[in-house]
Amino acid sequence: MEQELFRLQQEAEEALRQVDDVAQLEAFRVKFLGRKGGLLSGILRQLGTVASQDRPRLGQLANDVKQAVENQFEEKKKLFVTSSIGTASGVMDYSLPGRYLPFGKLHPVTQVMEEICSIFEGLGFAVAEGPDVETDYYNFEALNIPKHHPARDMHDTFYITESILLRTHTSPMQARIMEKQDPPLRYIAPGKVYRCDSDITHTPMFHQVEGFLVDKEVSFADLKGVLTSFTHKMFEKELALRFRPSFFPFTEPSAEVDIACVICGGKGCRVCKRTGWLEILGSGLIDPEVLKMVGYDPDIYSGFAFGLGVERIAMLKYGIDDIRLYYENDLRFLSQF
Ligand SMILES: [Zn+2]
Repeated sequence: MEQELFRLQQEAEEALRQVDDVAQLEAFRVKFLGRKGGLLSGILRQLGTVASQDRPRLGQLANDVKQAVENQFEEKKKLFVTSSIGTASGVMDYSLPGRYLPFGKLHPVTQVMEEICSIFEGLGFAVAEGPDVETDYYNFEALNIPKHHPARDMHDTFYITESILLRTHTSPMQARIMEKQDPPLRYIAPGKVYRCDSDITHTPMFHQVEGFLVDKEVSFADLKGVLTSFTHKMFEKELALRFRPSFFPFTEPSAEVDIACVICGGKGCRVCKRTGWLEILGSGLIDPEVLKMVGYDPDIYSGFAFGLGVERIAMLKYGIDDIRLYYENDLRFLSQF
């Protein structure tokens, strides 16, 4: 029996070497390893007939041989599985399409930011980007927010040193550009801004697009015209706009701008808190003090500025009510955009 086992092992190894397609492999399995009628199973069944003192040794040997053949069979099978995807015959099918890697997509906030920029570029604005780490001077003082001004409290600033901070808005670009260039100017400054704040409508880092225009005889009507064209393009609807008097240290007069609710169209719903209006941005005419600080004559030049929150626009555009969803990196959420 011992000899028969070794002979069978050799025979199986030889047979396995001859196998070169999936059908032959299956025939091999049935012949040698099949539960009923397989040659190895047959030998194991004969164990009952050998002398009882030889039984443990032969039983062990028979199992070892069966295990060795099974291992070789599995190895061979792997070769076919990796080389014959999609075919039953084991032949490579060259007409099969390749395996695609999943596509990456732009983050919804990036998509909305690019859309905002392209609308303003269409209105003649140039795009300028500035540093995230900013000086106190450009973030506050050049925008008419001196030290100890109460408006600083609204900003929840991350300070790095006493005079260096993470910018709390993209408005510093106003001063940076105006210092270097003379009017007429039309710029938007998109980018990340930072505030020490976090809840369902605030994240410590968010995106803003700041815009400003400086020229001779710029009036509030120009501001209204630009923002009206922008919102109509952004929301693909002729939504009504409402300007509410407000206060920003760097604009005078200042206004917060609301649009008719994109969900209910102004009738009143949960999103607009039954008012029919949604706040989308802050704006105003540039304060003459800000113009003076960069050396412009406010008797000749005037301008307007506005700042909008990109996440806010994206939430309204896509009907999302929790800003934190944008930053939890759940691909099921992000891949919808
Ligand atoms: Zn509504």
